[in-house]
Amino acid sequence: MAAILSTRYGLIMNVQKNIKQPHSWGRYPKVKHSQALSIYWRNELPDIAQLEESALPFAYGRSYGDSCLNAGGVALDVSHLQRFMAFDEETGLLRCESGVSLAEILEVMVPRGWFLPVTPGTKFVSVGGAIANDIHGKNHHRGGTFGCHVTCFELMRSNGERLLCSSEQNSELFRATIGGLGLTGLILWAEFRLKPIVNPYIDMDHIRFASLDEFFEISAASDADYEYTMSWVDILIGGEKLCRGIFMRGNHNQSQQLAEKLVKKRLSLAVPIDFPRFVLNSLTVKAFNELYYHAQLPKHMHKVVPYDPFFYPLDSIHNWYRMYGKRGFLQYQFVVPFEDGHGAMYEILERIRCSGEGSFLTVLKKFGDIPSPGMLSFPRPGLTLALDFAYGGPKTLRLLDDLDNIVLQSGGAVYPAKDARMSAQSFQAFFPRWKEFSAYIDPKFSSSFWRRVTNNVDCQGDREGRLVNGNSNNENW
Ligand SMILES: Cc1cc2nc3c(=O)[nH]c(=O)nc-3n(C[C@H](O)[C@H](O)[C@H](O)COP(=O)(O)OP(=O)(O)OC[C@H]3O[C@@H](n4cnc5c(N)ncnc54)[C@H](O)[C@@H]3O)c2cc1C
Repeated sequence: MAAILSTRYGLIMNVQKNIKQPHSWGRYPKVKHSQALSIYWRNELPDIAQLEESALPFAYGRSYGDSCLNAGGVALDVSHLQRFMAFDEETGLLRCESGVSLAEILEVMVPRGWFLPVTPGTKFVSVGGAIANDIHGKNHHRGGTFGCHVTCFELMRSNGERLLCSSEQNSELFRATIGGLGLTGLILWAEFRLKPIVNPYIDMDHIRFASLDEFFEISAASDADYEYTMSWVDILIGGEKLCRGIFMRGNHNQSQQLAEKLVKKRLSLAVPIDFPRFVLNSLTVKAFNELYYHAQLPKHMHKVVPYDPFFYPLDSIHNWYRMYGKRGFLQYQFVVPFEDGHGAMYEILERIRCSGEGSFLTVLKKFGDIPSPGMLSFPRPGLTLALDFAYGGPKTLRLLDDLDNIVLQSGGAVYPAKDARMSAQSFQAFFPRWKEFSAYIDPKFSSSFWRRVTNNVDCQGDREGRLVNGNSNNENW
């Protein structure tokens, strides 16, 4: 059913009331928004001040938890703001609307010899989402975060003001909006710098390692010469070695001849149904790890591959979140400083092993020391690990609370873009600038995440996912 809302300019917009509810990638928690308001044009913007409830921009929902959700409030769907606005071939500066996805940018710009300055593990994220979470990629040690490459953007506040923000103009709002979790207003368009490439291929190495110490050795030997590094790890082996895995590193290939070679389109699959809970358990995860670890026969493998499978291996399986079943899953990504990295990692991995919970996909990486520009940016120097856990009720939440405590003691932090459950106390310790940041929040903007981590629980579901003021973890949509 569609209702009508008059905009600031007296134009007509569609307000979809009974639409499919926006959900985040982990499908935990499941929340109900009062409405989803689609925005199509920069000159037909809704009068946000007139909305009865609070609002939050929503793009492609590739955030895992509740930082892109606004239970009981309005989701401002910006995914239709999809226009390219300007590109400077001399400087690589691209200006586009905030709903343009990284996939679209790659499709248009790679054939012209340009690549993203920073890209996450999926290309299906928007420019607005990349800024709001100040995302990082495999090149953090060389390129910092996405926000490091943003020169300016236009931000609309709920009072209708449209502000140009850059490091010179409205600079505090600029720094608050980068990594600002969508709370400072609506980014309408952004300008950022692409980097030149010779062809769409990557020189890739895969190196098997048998312990965390060996990971550190390979990592130290790779940082200076390789732009991209990350590792898949098996954390269930236990003992002094802590983990084993495959270290992946790569550089853009420099061959002029390969620039002419067409990249074959990748086949993609879809997960057609929600898997039953028993499919992913610690035994199946162990079996998968064993197979994957030994699938590569030589210890060191070199290949030239198209950029797509190197950066986005998971994008070829649509809706892979369905493997975790209807209850959804939680991703847990933390960073611990190098000084305490080994000790904290040991405690965390032991705690996970003892819990009997298996992480199907675990990724380990080193963050470098390029400062993140945002007040609430997550990346900081240290060791970062991302793990997936099927949502198994209070047991899973207790495990993650325990991990928070270890991260806290080591002086690290947990990534809000992937979070659905950290306590207010933990968040405020991980992000001590949160109060300073609060001053820049638009009074009409809010999110389920923000209410939780600042102790305002008005619209929050309880921790078992029961329906509380529009927030449910048991409903299907
Ligand atoms: C498979 C996979 C791999 C990933 N790998 C990485 C990784 O390697 N590194 C990493 O950092 N992250 C990673 N992520 C997380 C993802 O990059 C971020 O959550 C990203 O912000 C999602 O963007 P989105 O466009 O889907 O935005 P959404 O998830 O819809 O929203 C994210 C935030 O952006 C805000 N927002 C969106 N548009 C606007 C706008 N126009 N104006 C203001 N605020 C806005 C929203 O309010 C919300 O707070 C991964 C996610 C997946 C699913």
